[in-house]
Order: sequence, then C-alpha cells, then structure tokens
Amino acid sequence: MRLFISNGLIVDPENNLEAIGDLMVEDGVIREISLYRNKSRRDSDKDMVKHELLPGDIHVDAKGKWIVPGLIDLHVHLREPGQEYKEDIESGCRSAAKGGFTTICCMPNTNPVIDCPYVVLTIGSKAEEGNGVQVLCIGAVSKGQEGKELADYEGMIRTGTHLTKLKGSGICGISEDGKTVQDSNLMLTAMIKARELGLTFFSHAEPEVEIVQRDLVLAEATGCSLHFCHISKKESLALIREAKKRGVPVTAETAPHYFTLTDNDVNGDSNKKMNPPLRGTEDIEAVRLALKDGTIDVIATDHAPHHEKEKRLPYHEAPNGVIGLETSFSVSYTELVRKGILTPLELITKMSTKPAAVLGINRGSLWIGKPADLTIIDVDQEYEIRSDTFASKGKNSPFLGKRVYGQAVYTIVGGQIVWSNNQKTIDRRYEND
Ligand SMILES: [Zn+2]
Repeated sequence: MRLFISNGLIVDPENNLEAIGDLMVEDGVIREISLYRNKSRRDSDKDMVKHELLPGDIHVDAKGKWIVPGLIDLHVHLREPGQEYKEDIESGCRSAAKGGFTTICCMPNTNPVIDCPYVVLTIGSKAEEGNGVQVLCIGAVSKGQEGKELADYEGMIRTGTHLTKLKGSGICGISEDGKTVQDSNLMLTAMIKARELGLTFFSHAEPEVEIVQRDLVLAEATGCSLHFCHISKKESLALIREAKKRGVPVTAETAPHYFTLTDNDVNGDSNKKMNPPLRGTEDIEAVRLALKDGTIDVIATDHAPHHEKEKRLPYHEAPNGVIGLETSFSVSYTELVRKGILTPLELITKMSTKPAAVLGINRGSLWIGKPADLTIIDVDQEYEIRSDTFASKGKNSPFLGKRVYGQAVYTIVGGQIVWSNNQKTIDRRYEND
C-alpha cells in the first residue's frame, strides 16, 4: 500500500524546511517528497499525482494543512497497570493519536511501579494491542520508587516489544517522576549507572530550584544526560541556561499550562491543580523567553488523568494532575505561534525533533528514507476545548472553555493511519473493487 499526501505545508525542523509539497509513503517509509516552486499551487485543484493511484493506495488531500513529523510526548501517565479507572494504555493511546502524537513515553509511577522487566513487558504487550502509537517506558530510578535500592535497569533494557523498543531498549530512560530522589548518594549512583547504560535521567525536581541546582552538579560530575521534567520557575531556568553554556548535558521541558495560565487563574478549580503548581506572571514570562532562546528544549504534557469524582473533591483534597495529550498542540500553537513567540519550525522542534533527540530515536524528521510517523494538522479551525470530545478517560483539563486553533486531522505511524477526524479527504482508490 502506498499513501499519497498532497498539497500540504511540510514543516520539518531537521531540514529547516517549510514549504508546500507532496509526500509519498510506501512500506512505512517516506519514499518521495516533492516541493512546489510556486506557492500559488496551493490553490490549484489538480495537485500531486504524477503517480497513478493503484488499488489499495490511499490519497489524502492536505490542502491548507501542516504536514509535520509525528509529535512525541516525553511525559505521560498512562495509569496502567494499577489505576485503569483513571486511564489505560488503550484509552491513553487513543488520546495521544487524537492529539497528533505518534510516540509517547510513560512514567513509572504505576502500580506496580515500572521497576523490573515484567512490568515493562506487560505494558509493551498491552501497547501492541492498541492503535499503533508507540509507547516507550521510562523505568523507575529505585525499586518501588522507594528511594532505597536501584531498580533493575539492565533487565528492563533487555525486555519489551517492537512498539516499545524503538531504540532497541525496553526503557528509554529512568525517572522517579512524581517523587524526587532525596538521597543524593543514591542519585549519584543512579546517574553513573545511567550514563554507563546510555539512559537519560528524567528529573522531577521538587523543590524545583534546589533540586535543579543539585542535579546539574551531579550531571556535570557524572556526564549523565539529564532531562528536567515540567520546569516552571524563573530561577531554575536561569540555572539551566547557565549550565548549558558550561556544556552540561542537560535538556528541559515545560508543559502548556506553565506558559498559559497563572496562579490567578486557579480560583479553587481542581482542574487547575497540578505539581508543580501554576506560577506567577514573572515565571510565565520567563518560561516563554526560555522557549524562545532554547533553554527549554521540549514541550511535554505531563498528561495525568484522574477520575472525575476525584477532581470534583474540594481543591485541597483533589489529587494533583491535569490531562494534556489532546490540547497540547492547539494550546501551544495558539499561545506561542499565533502570538508570534515561536515560529512553526520552532514549535515542531519542541514537539517532535527535540524530544526524538532526547530519546535518541530515529524520528522527529520528515525526509526521504525516514520512518513515516507524521501528523497532518489543520491550524485554521477555531474551536472550544470541551471535555465531551476527549478520547482520554480523564476530563481534568485546565483549558476547558478555552478557544484555540489547531487540530490533528490525521495521525500516521509507520505509514498507517492510526487516527483521522476527516474521512472525507481520503481517497481510497478502488476500495469497493
Ligand atoms: Zn509527571
């Protein structure tokens, strides 16, 4: 089967490419890209298809849409195993695909914790039964996330399934997300080991500024690749900026709520309760600046579904966490690109190319010979974010009622359409033959 995508704006940071063109996918790989010299071809009806469509071929008209390398989310809580009433791998993957994500990384604070080969394999097998979205596991730093004894990194690396082993490893990194490793000695041992094994350390820094400072020292000493989760404060950003200048192997992510909402927006609404909490205007400004100057490499979601009943509790009793897979692109595009803070290329860098680089996987770019993980996005449609449209089991979005632009219309993994909201634009040649 071949997949032809015509007449879209191809946005590929790796090649610094932003141009109207066509793309042909065969056997899960991008085989051809042709760019239009003349932008006015955007309005032409007779696009594409020097190739004649054959039985089984699919043609997608991407006129007026972006074609981008599949979005990658480094920070997702899938809740399975253990809390399937909040989310499970299947619903989480549907939510991811609907949001335009082709690869997601799941955090280890499940029950049981992802700290041994068995749990990695369980998640891998479940992901295989899902819609095709690639699920990469992040292993726990310590057994049971108890902060006492290191988890079985080698065992976890050796296990997994083809969807979960993009890098040939059962885990793509280690993290104690949701908790901070308080014991600095254990932290040092973990980083030395992570470096030996080529694993990135995803740090949940709490209290943020102090732990950012400590972990930067440890990364500098050990040479371990360090990635900071959900950075939200001006002071931590200044430390990371400095460390990058010194050549410390560090990257950082933030989430859409940290550049969009402030603590003034909370008003006792549990759907705006997360960890770290929403900050003040100065911090938001600092996050936006850090996105622009590259101190923040990645936009991740920290997708953290909870049951509606739990989030209906009074603010101080409700659990931390908000969902984000289905709103991340639209909120980021609306707040950053439409407001002139980031260019389209910069946004896709932070949502695909850089996350791929942090993981060390062959993704995050659209080019001939690359695996065909891609997302087609309609950026012109304005709509309101509503909980009844979410594929996630969680409805706890801090953006309910917000008007945004930008919606994935096709999510494609390995050349297969895993999600589409627009069957009308698909031309399945000879489908009924
Ligand atoms: Zn998290």
